[in-house]
Amino acid sequence: MNFIPATQPSADSQSLVYWFLFYEEQLLMETGTSDPRLVLLDKNLPVNFKVTSLQYLGSLDDKPCYTALLSGTANIPKNMSFIRVRDLYDKFPEDLFWLIGRAFHITVWDRRTLYCGSCGAPTENMTRVRAKVCPKCRQLIFPRISPAIIVAIFREGKILLARNRNLPADLFTVIAGFVEPGETLEECLQREVREEVGIAVKNIRYFSSQPWPFPDSLMVAFTAEYAGGDIQVDGEEIIEADWFSADNLPKVPGKVSVARKLIDWYQDQYRTCGGKE
Ligand SMILES: [Zn+2]
Repeated sequence: MNFIPATQPSADSQSLVYWFLFYEEQLLMETGTSDPRLVLLDKNLPVNFKVTSLQYLGSLDDKPCYTALLSGTANIPKNMSFIRVRDLYDKFPEDLFWLIGRAFHITVWDRRTLYCGSCGAPTENMTRVRAKVCPKCRQLIFPRISPAIIVAIFREGKILLARNRNLPADLFTVIAGFVEPGETLEECLQREVREEVGIAVKNIRYFSSQPWPFPDSLMVAFTAEYAGGDIQVDGEEIIEADWFSADNLPKVPGKVSVARKLIDWYQDQYRTCGGKE
């Protein structure tokens, strides 16, 4: 898969384009064949497709990609149907799933910024950057990206996993939380860990990052070591937390999440070290 992001199509653009058409949190896909596929249609959409929030996304394998919101679900061709974006991660290669996520993020942003938040005038797309501008007060409106930290904490070969009130009852995962204004990522991490499970951490190391476009997060993942304190869950967001060993993990999040990548990395480390306990 070769995707090149851009805000405007090239001059020699072809007539067949990939359409990322969303209705609420669902993507329209070709489902006439065995596996769902991206919708490939003429640049001039059939008249029964009514779209808003149209944005050029870039090119995928030399074909232009457009993302837009469908105004309704009526008159959809028989070989197409809607699939919830979050349910697509195990149906596609990861890079294609993230491209769909990118399209979704941009579409939601476009929908939410049709008007200037300062003066109420209709906004306009800028040409060279992914941003809008208010023609009246000149305010720039970039896509909102909300950074959040996510951290795997280790203590004597074990990993801290917690149960979150908003996730399925049997699922355990690592600690995460949104960055607040004025915070560094490290300060955010220390605060979230202290607030949610009551412990202190040290040796914070960057791990990786991952967009989470539902609708606009960027997860920045770290590892850290236990530094002190007893686990005390906040009882609001986190309702249970404990130290788990690599050979005795509870149910953890699915493969595509950075939480799972942290947990998998921990398991690999532990196995390569041959066990520390
Ligand atoms: Zn304005």
